[in-house]
Amino acid sequence: MHAQPVSIVGAGLAGSLLALLLARRGYAVTLYERRADPRIAAAEEGRSINLVLAARGIRALERAAVMAAIAPLLLPMRGRMVHARSGEYALQPYGQKDSEVIYSVGRAALNLCLLNEATRHREVVVKFEQLCMGAEADSNRLLLRDVASGVTYERKLTPTIATDGASSLLRASLVGSGLIRVREDSLEHEYKELTLPAHNGRHPLAADALHIWPRGGFMLIALPNTDHSFTATLFLPRSGAASFAELSTPARIAGFFAREFADVVPLMPDLVDEFMRHPRGQLGTVHAAPWHVDGHVLLLGDAAHAIVPFHGQGMNAAFEDCLVFDDLLEDYDDWESLFDAFGQRRRPNAEAIAKMSLENYVEMRATVLDPTFERHQALALALERQFPERFIPRYSMVMFHPEIPYVEALRRGSIQAAIVAAVDTEPGRATALVNERLPPLS
Ligand code: FAD
Repeated sequence: MHAQPVSIVGAGLAGSLLALLLARRGYAVTLYERRADPRIAAAEEGRSINLVLAARGIRALERAAVMAAIAPLLLPMRGRMVHARSGEYALQPYGQKDSEVIYSVGRAALNLCLLNEATRHREVVVKFEQLCMGAEADSNRLLLRDVASGVTYERKLTPTIATDGASSLLRASLVGSGLIRVREDSLEHEYKELTLPAHNGRHPLAADALHIWPRGGFMLIALPNTDHSFTATLFLPRSGAASFAELSTPARIAGFFAREFADVVPLMPDLVDEFMRHPRGQLGTVHAAPWHVDGHVLLLGDAAHAIVPFHGQGMNAAFEDCLVFDDLLEDYDDWESLFDAFGQRRRPNAEAIAKMSLENYVEMRATVLDPTFERHQALALALERQFPERFIPRYSMVMFHPEIPYVEALRRGSIQAAIVAAVDTEPGRATALVNERLPPLS
């Protein structure tokens, strides 16, 4: 396998990290990226400017020995600050240990850092402004186009890893040839990003929290940036009473924000202008199968399993993919077996995090307002303190415990939800239920 150079399509978050991990094992890697070199060009506006990085992503970055370079880009967030319509707000901590924090990180800075680290290895070559148009597996061809000149050319396909994101053209071409099946479930809700600039050189809101303005059918969230600004994201239905379709004039936009998010309006001086100018993003879940075509090509990251962003896990899952791929490189000596093993190991986990991410949207925009939810949260934390070997809240398993696979977090999480509901009405049953239904975590 070492003798074969590897092609990676898409030098985004997963592609750059994977190239780095492969180079560390001595593989020659060529990355094809349709965008211009970010060291020269500006980042795209309005495309998820910052992201939540959590333990699964960090574990993969540690494997690649890049955490020292990435640490300065990170801002810890220890809980969600929930803002009511009245302007009152309260912090709901994510965990109960000091180490149980998640991090806000700028997408462009993180991507650049990974690219820089990857290209320090002479095994890695990045070819920017090269658009992959697809692949022909039977003739072993990867089809590319130079963006500037429009010239098309081809390369040997085997082995190629497609990390070209949720709208992967490489995946689409394999679907077109009947080699892969895909179902794309698009969400009725879309998003738009807005800026809360720094105020007198400081963050305009508490910088150690992820801020949420839950409004039932929709929500606004905001994550801090290292330049002391915040990036806010409005998640809103496409059509209906409160929807993007309704917000079609400056007066309607201003009225909607004044009504729903009055406390944020003074922090967004360019609100209406940005709202009119920034693109609307679409969201959805990609279910693809299989993830590979023989030993020719493998889908990884969003290209294989894009999910909605409400658990802050898409990138983390993509990084975890890279870690698993790196593990499997030790165990296999042919690409087809490795690609197959990768799919077997990752697909159930991708399905589990896809499900939990959809569930988390309802939790973030509506359930957090419910007094029962807060009581159950407190109960879950109390059960974790009492039975640390057996009970870990589902959010914590996903965000802070990379040793627990997503599929196990989903399974134990539903048992735990039933236990919490039972203990809420009959507190005396806690010990019996936990011991009976939750075996110790290994
Ligand atoms: P991408 O990062 O999309 O990279 C794909 C790369 O391929 C890009 O560089 C692109 O230019 C390139 N490319 C595309 N097509 C071609 C082509 N045909 N030829 C050549 N190159 C191509 N995840 C989290 O973990 N935490 C979060 O908080 C979070 N928040 C999010 C918020 C929003 C609004 C959205 C939309 C997503 C969020 N995600 C989050 C998900 C996260 O962005 C993705 O899971 C992650 O970017 C996946 O990485 P990737 O490398 O697979 O794809």
